[in-house]
Amino acid sequence: MSLDNTPHPSVKHCADKVNTRYIHGRPESELVPSRYALKVGEIDVMVVSDGVLSLPGAMLGHNVDPAVRAAWLEDMFLPPDVLEWALNVVVVRSGGRTILIDAGIGMEFPDLPRAGKLAQRLKAAGIDPASVTDVVLTHMHMDHVGGLLAEGVKERLRRDLRVHVAAAEAEFWESPDFSRVSMPPGFPDALRRTGKRFLKEYHSQMRTFENEYEVAPGVVVQRTGGHTPGHSVVRLASGGDRLMFAGDLVFQVGFEHPDWYNGFEHDPEEAARVRVRLLRELAANRESLVATHLSFPSVCHVAVDGDVFRWVPGPWEY
Ligand SMILES: [Zn+2]
Repeated sequence: MSLDNTPHPSVKHCADKVNTRYIHGRPESELVPSRYALKVGEIDVMVVSDGVLSLPGAMLGHNVDPAVRAAWLEDMFLPPDVLEWALNVVVVRSGGRTILIDAGIGMEFPDLPRAGKLAQRLKAAGIDPASVTDVVLTHMHMDHVGGLLAEGVKERLRRDLRVHVAAAEAEFWESPDFSRVSMPPGFPDALRRTGKRFLKEYHSQMRTFENEYEVAPGVVVQRTGGHTPGHSVVRLASGGDRLMFAGDLVFQVGFEHPDWYNGFEHDPEEAARVRVRLLRELAANRESLVATHLSFPSVCHVAVDGDVFRWVPGPWEY
């Protein structure tokens, strides 16, 4: 699928601009393992990078003056027009179950050669797709489900695989509403197609839940809504330790500016309310945070900073 039919700066332009600067943009080279393991009490957690997505800088916040947005990027030592998004996926082991949380973007987008690495990186980490007993989807955007649609993947998964997703999310993708988003042209159609295809191909494995479901001991998926109607986070709790995999609840800018509307949010006001509520909760209970689009491995804490928040990266532990 090509995303090339977009005006300047197109996604392809953004990707090309960055890809030429990085040796790891070349398909076969792996300079670093791109996986990070940690423990949450008795629960084994591994963050695996699906790669990096290059998007137009305007995706940061479409309710914000472009000059204010540019100033933030400048303050962060980032280029003014291209936003680099990490794509973090998590593998969790608890109570004899192996749970894949989200699945990356897959291989369908040749314009994004630095993303879609999950299959290769799971293999490098010694994780056989046939060992995965459960998949939990935070939501059904293509950068979270695409990895399950890549060629040859479904055949390698167990026939009794359970795919957990909020009922509201599955229902949403039957007839998705894109009226409030502000995505690059080409994205809504690609997302619609991927969502529909996912529902069709994984229909028989899907296990929907209303608000909350315990997938394995200490591994609970909770619907938040906002980003998409069935957007969910995964809470891990064991032996006094806690960690939240937050999907697209928060992007890097969201700590300092939780009220900036990300271009991919289907209900931006509700997404901002949910973000503030859960960031406050994470700060209050000192729970660790991992999120899809925070820079790998993204393990961090959240602190309250006046009316907004402060991102506190965790220490590298190896
Ligand atoms: Zn996403």
